[in-house]
Amino acid sequence: MKIVAAKDTQSRRGPEEWFTGKVWMDPSPAEPPEAGVFRVLFEPGARTNWHTHPEGQIIHIVSGKGRVGNEDGSAVEVGSGDSVCFAPGEKHWHGAAPDSFMIHITINPAANSDGGTEWMEPVGDEEYGG
Ligand code: MN
Repeated sequence: MKIVAAKDTQSRRGPEEWFTGKVWMDPSPAEPPEAGVFRVLFEPGARTNWHTHPEGQIIHIVSGKGRVGNEDGSAVEVGSGDSVCFAPGEKHWHGAAPDSFMIHITINPAANSDGGTEWMEPVGDEEYGG
């Protein structure tokens, strides 16, 4: 058993190449990683760029209100307690609602820490607005 205490967890700003707005990421606790597991906080209006995960991804919303989308069309509202599963290679995005913070746990079922995420273009205001 290994316990990673909150006091030993260093949040860092999400890179501008991956996100619109301010996002705070905690590192994945397992070393070496059996899966990429990240706690991510999005400030209101912040969201990921479009991206894909080769092995898919599960996100679980811990608090706040968020929005998710894929190429099928409009953004979908999600909130505390909701989970969203993205298929391998499915192009998608996730983020906070315009008027709420959102915290989610992401689980990338791959042996490398970020699941081999392929990052693409930002999500435009129209796509985000849904
Ligand atoms: Mn994702």
